[in-house]
Amino acid sequence: MTDADVAIVGGGIVGTALASELVRRGRRVALVDSGRAGTTAASYGWINSHKKHPIEYHQLNMAGVAAWRAIADRHPSVVSFAGHLEIAEDEAHRRSLTQRVERLQELGYGARWSSVADARDAVRCTIAPDSLVAAFDEGHAFPLRWVAHLSDQLASADGFERRRATVTRIEPGRYGAELVLEDESRIRATDAVVCAGNGSEALVASAGGALPLVEPLVDSAAFGYLADVSAPGHGIDRMVTTDVVGIRPGDDDLLLVQALDLDQTAEVGAPAPPGVATALEQRIAALLPHTAPRVRAIRVGHRVIPADGRTAAGRIRAGSRVWAIVTHSGVVLAPWLASVLADELCGAPRDARLASFQPARFLDGDAATAPTAPRRPGDQ
Ligand SMILES: Cc1cc2nc3c(=O)[nH]c(=O)nc-3n(C[C@H](O)[C@H](O)[C@H](O)COP(=O)(O)OP(=O)(O)OC[C@H]3O[C@@H](n4cnc5c(N)ncnc54)[C@H](O)[C@@H]3O)c2cc1C
Repeated sequence: MTDADVAIVGGGIVGTALASELVRRGRRVALVDSGRAGTTAASYGWINSHKKHPIEYHQLNMAGVAAWRAIADRHPSVVSFAGHLEIAEDEAHRRSLTQRVERLQELGYGARWSSVADARDAVRCTIAPDSLVAAFDEGHAFPLRWVAHLSDQLASADGFERRRATVTRIEPGRYGAELVLEDESRIRATDAVVCAGNGSEALVASAGGALPLVEPLVDSAAFGYLADVSAPGHGIDRMVTTDVVGIRPGDDDLLLVQALDLDQTAEVGAPAPPGVATALEQRIAALLPHTAPRVRAIRVGHRVIPADGRTAAGRIRAGSRVWAIVTHSGVVLAPWLASVLADELCGAPRDARLASFQPARFLDGDAATAPTAPRRPGDQ
C-alpha cells in the first residue's frame, strides 16, 4: 500500500498549487518541505507575458496570466490587475519600450501608449513632459498570500498530508517512486513530483534524470535584490517602471522595489552594500517627491532557472514515475502549470503547449546557453 498517490517535494508556490489541484481531483497527496524559505518568498510577483521568448514560452505565460485573472475575481487581496505603467526617458529605454509595445500589440497583448497627462492622473509620480509612457494590462501578485490560502484549504482536506523534512533522494519503488528523508524513512507513492526550486537539480539527478540549473554566480541571472520600502502616502496601486527603478504595492502599505542594474552585487547570504539602499531611496524620492522613502529591508532572491532558461515540466525521462516542475516566472506559471500537470498525472494527455518543455531534453548532455542577467527595464 502506498502512503500517497502523489508525493510532492517542495511547498513553494509551484508545489503547493500542484498539491491543491491534485487534491481537488481526489488524489491522496503527501507534500514534503524542508521549511527553508524558497524563491517564492523573494519574488517581484509581476503577472505578465511581457518579454517572453520564444513564442511557445509566451503562450505558457499567457495561460498563466489567464489563470491569475480567474483567481483575481475571487481573491482580490492575492492579485491585482490594476496595470503597469512604464515610463522611458533615456534613449536606450525609449527604443526598447517601443520595440516591446509594437511586438506585444502584434501579439494582441494589452499594451498601449499613454499620454504623460493620463499617466500623471493615474499615479502621483513625477513624469518628465517628454517621457514616452506605455500602459500594459498586467498584474501584481502576493504569492505568499496565495500559498497561505491554498495551504489553509489543504490542511483540512481529505487525503492530504504535509511533512516538514528534507528529502535526500528519490528511488524507484515497488509501487512507483519513494522519497527518502534525512532519517532514512520513506514515503511511498505511485508518482513523485520534484517542485523543490533550487533544490531540484540534485533530487532529479538522484532519480536518474538531469535538470541542470543556472549556476549561482554573482552578477549572473541567478540573484536579484528586492527591497521593502516605506513611503508614507505613496498612493501607488499598480506597477510602475522607470529607467532606473521598478515599484509596486507590497505588504503593509510598503512598496516592493527592484532596480535591476543594481543587482550585480547581489549574492545569497551576503548583505547588500550600503550604496544599494541609498541609491534606491534617491531613485524613489525622485519619482515620488511627496514621500520620504526609507528602505526597511533588502532581500536577495535566488531565481529558479533551468540552464537553458526555459521551463521544465513533466516526467524526468520517458516512462519514469518521477516528474519535475522547475521554472523561472514560477509565480505567473504556477496556477496554470499545476492544473495541466495535475491533469496529466491523472492520466489526461499532455497539454500540447508543453511539447518543448520536457525536463528530459537535458538527458543528452548538450551544453545549454545560459540566459543573460536581467539588468534593464522590462527584463525579469
Ligand atoms: C528577484 C526575483 C524576482 C522574481 N520576479 C518574478 C516575477 O515578477 N514574476 C514571476 O512569475 N516570477 C518571478 N520570480 C521567480 C519566481 O519567484 C519563482 O519562479 C518561483 O517562486 C519558484 O517557486 P517554486 O515553488 O518552484 O520554488 P521555491 O519557492 O523555491 O520552493 C521550493 C521549496 O522546496 C523546498 N525544498 C528544496 N529542496 C528540498 C528538499 N530536498 N527536501 C524538501 N524540501 C525542499 C524549499 O524549502 C522550498 O520551500 C522572481 C524571482 C526572483 C528571485
